[in-house]
Amino acid sequence: MVLDAVNEMHRHVTADQIYTFIKEKYPSIGRGTVYRNLGILVEEGKVRKVEVPDGSDRFDFTLENHYHVECVKCGEIFDVDMDVISELEKKIKDTHGMKYISHDIFFKGICRNVRRKK
Ligand SMILES: [Zn+2]
Ligand SMILES: [Zn+2]
Repeated sequence: MVLDAVNEMHRHVTADQIYTFIKEKYPSIGRGTVYRNLGILVEEGKVRKVEVPDGSDRFDFTLENHYHVECVKCGEIFDVDMDVISELEKKIKDTHGMKYISHDIFFKGICRNVRRKK
């Protein structure tokens, strides 16, 4: 049910938005149930958790690694249409003993919806 919601909503949604979405169809569902199942789906790799540097986590139906852009005006998260820079970790000069395993890039922008309103 939770997985369906993430796929159906087709956006980068917060846990709260997923809960509200499911609750419309299944009014008796509890917030804890939705959050718990969301956590399980992330652990199972069926939903991707996007950690937003200065906002709540978003949940993403696109599983392969990709970058995001956050609209600084409305807070909406969008996918960035570019290839992942797989050699980025190799550019680190002094690793300080850290083994780098992955990276995320978060761009900032102003989305079309906001710009159109002006
Ligand atoms: Zn926006
Ligand atoms: Zn995404």
